[in-house]
Amino acid sequence: MKDYTINTKCVQAGYRPGNGEPRQIPIVQSTTFKYDTSEDMGKLFDLEASGYFYTRLQNPTNDYVAAKIAELEGGSAAMLTSSGQAANFFALFNICECGSHIVSSSSIYGGTFNLISVTMAKMGIEVTFVSPDASEEELNAAFKENTRAVFGETIANPALTVLDIEKFARVAHAHGVPLIIDNTFPTPVNCRPIEWGADIVTHSTTKYMDGHGAAVGGAIVDSGRFDWMAHADKFPGLCTPDESYHGITYAEKFGQGGAFITKCTAQLMRDFGCIQSPQHAFILNLGLESLHVRMPRHVENGQAVAEFLEKHPAVEKVNYSGLPSDKYYEIAKKYLPNGGCGVVSFVLKGGRAAAEKFMKNLKLAAIETHVADARTCCLNPATSTHRQMSDEQLKEAGIPAGLVRMSCGLEDKKDLIADIAQALDAIG
Ligand SMILES: *Cc1c(COP(=O)(O)O)cnc(C)c1O
Repeated sequence: MKDYTINTKCVQAGYRPGNGEPRQIPIVQSTTFKYDTSEDMGKLFDLEASGYFYTRLQNPTNDYVAAKIAELEGGSAAMLTSSGQAANFFALFNICECGSHIVSSSSIYGGTFNLISVTMAKMGIEVTFVSPDASEEELNAAFKENTRAVFGETIANPALTVLDIEKFARVAHAHGVPLIIDNTFPTPVNCRPIEWGADIVTHSTTKYMDGHGAAVGGAIVDSGRFDWMAHADKFPGLCTPDESYHGITYAEKFGQGGAFITKCTAQLMRDFGCIQSPQHAFILNLGLESLHVRMPRHVENGQAVAEFLEKHPAVEKVNYSGLPSDKYYEIAKKYLPNGGCGVVSFVLKGGRAAAEKFMKNLKLAAIETHVADARTCCLNPATSTHRQMSDEQLKEAGIPAGLVRMSCGLEDKKDLIADIAQALDAIG
């Protein structure tokens, strides 16, 4: 479906039924697949033939949906995982091992920050965090002999910083390593990082892609553009024989477009088993079918709410890259010309107490540890996810006690603004 626009790909890419076949993607609710001879099955085990044998490795329903996401991002191959956490872990661990080093933006999702800084550290993988606003010189200074990947988020959750993808890609490539971008917040409808030089793109499909708060999931997309063989000394897992598959060298056998995802499936999915269930893949695909219709509405609502909040006397500051006053307004015009997403954050003048009172008085927006679904929700980190921190510690972490993160859903913006207005008035 290469020649179609992203709108049409959201609806129809990935699965093209033949004559008399189901119109909707079939849920292949089977853990296993039958074969007539051991020889047939042996070829699958040796990666000599492609086909299905066990759903932990591959399942047709998941493959249809992964193929759609690959087309949406403009990649060569993709795979689904059980969650966004698994997607980011796999994307990094596919090319890093004990003794490797990662350069990562410091402005990333808390779960990913912990994954890289604590859990992967226990595996002997080091990280240097850099500011998302770092200059090229500062970025260069973060690299080491053993650096194997650069990581960042297009729009960071929850800080809403916007990454200069081209700059990060240029520096990564100058050091012979790929750039991995978590593109969860804008989705490929609003930004396609591969077009700006990213090599691998990841998603928490739990957010806008599903879009209804129904199914946890993740995805990894390979651009097919990174020349592993040109940096074979850095990536032995892709460029030297894998003894667990009779000496296959992934970059040779599956080429630049297939090596990364094939290795990630054959080794990491085999051994860690973080597969998405076919039922979840089906639900995810229902979300993808309307992603291009929903994203503009999330942006419209986010923009309207941000503009309203900015003018309100109870509000100290609003973070939203669609506001001309925002630090990331200019860079967002380049990478997110149709807007970013529906998530807005803002600081109330009255601090923690005001945030608590404001949220208690909301009638439409619910309090949730979630973002990016059809129903508007909000969170005050100081009284929830970060409640163990003092006001001083929160300030140091750049999370003021009065900060509220609001994920604008698909309701009518007039109703959302009226709800926010009455809740702000009630603070007094
Ligand atoms: C939520 C989120 C994740 C983690 O995804 P899960 O599906 O919850 O595991 C990773 N990255 C970003 C940007 C997220 O918002």
